[in-house]
Amino acid sequence: MTEFELIARFFDRPIAPGGIVARGIGDDCALLDFGGPNQVAVTTDMLVAGRHFFADAAPADIGHKALAVNLSDLAAAAAEPRCFFLALALPSADEAWLLAFSQALLALAAEHGCVLAGGDTTRTPDAAGTAGPLTINITAVGEVPHGRALTRAGARAGDDIWISGQLGDAALALEASAGRVRLTASDAAAARVRLDRPTPRVALGLALRGLATACIDVSDGLIGDLGHILDRSKAGAVLEWAIIPRSHLLSVQEQKIQLGCVLAGGDDYELTFTAPPSQRSAIEAAGRAARTSVTRVGAITDGRDLIVRDEAGRPMDTPFKAYDHFGSYDQLKP
Ligand code: ADP
Ligand code: MG
Repeated sequence: MTEFELIARFFDRPIAPGGIVARGIGDDCALLDFGGPNQVAVTTDMLVAGRHFFADAAPADIGHKALAVNLSDLAAAAAEPRCFFLALALPSADEAWLLAFSQALLALAAEHGCVLAGGDTTRTPDAAGTAGPLTINITAVGEVPHGRALTRAGARAGDDIWISGQLGDAALALEASAGRVRLTASDAAAARVRLDRPTPRVALGLALRGLATACIDVSDGLIGDLGHILDRSKAGAVLEWAIIPRSHLLSVQEQKIQLGCVLAGGDDYELTFTAPPSQRSAIEAAGRAARTSVTRVGAITDGRDLIVRDEAGRPMDTPFKAYDHFGSYDQLKP
């Protein structure tokens, strides 16, 4: 059973129309409608030590990332961050850890005008003498004018596929720390920043209102996350491998590593989105306004397949799947 089969089988149920839930399970954010001019976007993400971050990760990095991944889901919905709730299960009350964690968390929150509005604090049990695991859950709340939220549905055949920033460095950092790739200390540190300190593309998401037809944040790998857009939009896609943006650091690695990191790596928290070709210059302007690079990497098709083509236009063999918490591809999911 995959993570998504599990959700579908045990939790995803039809929602009767007319209630406050305008969009429920299946997108980056739920959209709630209280009758005002704006809809409320809500998302929640949990980080577990040993699963989403290394147990000895710097507390400031954990604090930053715990909120960043939630802001990234608000960005994908083109919602403006407003407030968040913080639930902590801590092995102990370590003052130095809490200071660094809270400072980084609240610094990112202040940067986005997102106010901590509540939460819950508990201690984890210490089974067999080992306390933990440290678990952090954040629920973030944003606002978007009625009907202006971006969702995973809405991509249409002929739309361009765009990506913000660069993909793959976060996964490259994991490969390096697992010893599968050798990097110089400074290169490893540069990749590590992308893994530990993702930048949620909030300004870009807001600038894409009215331009993009569908949007998702790349948390589990491009193939899988673009695949969610294709599922919800009932469409196919062609990606041009050569032009998918990646760092210089990644572009000098062997092809197999590049393919794995760019297509299946995840954790970059970039946005991938679709828009008709008529919006190309408007999207480039949106990228400039948001100080975020945007690159056109392919097109939506009326098929149902996701094809990655090489420079000669030949389909590539890309046996990559998205990260699945219950699948066999069970690396440490940062
Ligand atoms: P994201 O990574 O962008 O937060 P996911 O791909 O993890 O989203 O989740 C897919 C959808 O399933 C989301 O709409 C999420 O809210 C929903 N979901 C995940 N777990 C559960 C659960 N246990 N119960 C209900 N909905 C869930
Ligand atoms: Mg998401």
